[in-house]
Amino acid sequence: MTTRLFDDEPGLFEARAQVLSCVPRDGVFAVVLDQTIFFPRGGGQPCDDGDIGGVPVSDVFEEQGNIVHLLPRPVSGEVTLRIDGERRLELMRHHLGQHILSAVIDQTFGVPTVIARIEDAGPHIELQSPLTDEQLITAQALAQQVIDRDLPVRAAYYTPDEASRMSVRGKITPHERIRLVEIEGFDRNACGGTHCPSTGGVLDLLVTGTKSVRGVFRVYYAAGKAARKARLDRGLAVLSMQRALSCENLSEFAAAQQALIERRDALEAHNHALREQLLRSDTALWAELSRTLEQGRLAAAILDGGDVKHLRAVAEILCAEQPSALLFAVRQAGQLSLLFMRSKSKSGPNLGAFVKDLCARLGGRGGGSPLLAQGVIPGGEAAEQAVEEVFDAIAREYDLP
Ligand SMILES: [Zn+2]
Repeated sequence: MTTRLFDDEPGLFEARAQVLSCVPRDGVFAVVLDQTIFFPRGGGQPCDDGDIGGVPVSDVFEEQGNIVHLLPRPVSGEVTLRIDGERRLELMRHHLGQHILSAVIDQTFGVPTVIARIEDAGPHIELQSPLTDEQLITAQALAQQVIDRDLPVRAAYYTPDEASRMSVRGKITPHERIRLVEIEGFDRNACGGTHCPSTGGVLDLLVTGTKSVRGVFRVYYAAGKAARKARLDRGLAVLSMQRALSCENLSEFAAAQQALIERRDALEAHNHALREQLLRSDTALWAELSRTLEQGRLAAAILDGGDVKHLRAVAEILCAEQPSALLFAVRQAGQLSLLFMRSKSKSGPNLGAFVKDLCARLGGRGGGSPLLAQGVIPGGEAAEQAVEEVFDAIAREYDLP
């Protein structure tokens, strides 16, 4: 088994080690050492960046008690290991920051953390139930107090039996040896990650966003130097938004934001009503413009611009009302968008075949079923002539008893 130097010395960024094996695997080399400072990805923490004997390491993971390092070139003998120290420090700050945030939320609001990740789309924890913004800010302030108290942090291995007799926050995954991370007098949690030696090492912690996802409540956070940068970014964003809305201070900005949301909702409702009205009047218009044929009414037109989605809604209403066929071609950005629809009947033209044929002849794309077809073809006089001819052909078929 590889000796895990990062367990006891997470601040060790350079060390010597002996190469035990180096074998080709999928175009790279899998290297196992007698000891390592490289943290293998897992438990929500990504692996370290760095090099072994000057060769960059692309991945580090655990495999049957060993830690495997992937390298593009082979190494042998005694080698020097180096990891990106600044990145490791930030990972340690985020990891310990997460312990503190999860513990504070558990202790204060009784809401356990289901999962914690430093990788993916920003460091986050997922909670069993949602918290209000006020509760989150309270948790952030309490976490900052724990950071400011600079409490010692210790990690040690225990047998499952020993661990079961200790008070531990969260679940313990069954293992031969259980690693417990203890923040003195505050929290104890099972974790295999790297942490700062005391809470002050976290420097800063900021809740940066929330999201309800698959039945859990996700809380994004930043710690360490990333939190300091996030604070500055937030300050800049708020100042810019205040200026854009001509607000002198935060309370004016909050009021302006509320007014904007109300105005947006009112506009959306108004917009919806207008669309409904337009749909009714356009449905009446196209009913009026359609001619009566043997198998039902039919309207066909080449329109100069228009919303194809809206035309489809119009056609759907007309086709449901009585046997109808609606054939539209809409001129848009040098192209013709085709929308052909008819009511269900025993016989009648195959609109999909007509659109498919038009697209094949004119270099467009589209198709559909006998009842509904859509497509786009390059515009122009010749194309419009071809579309008119198709309109006539469909009308002839539609007129057959
Ligand atoms: Zn941890």
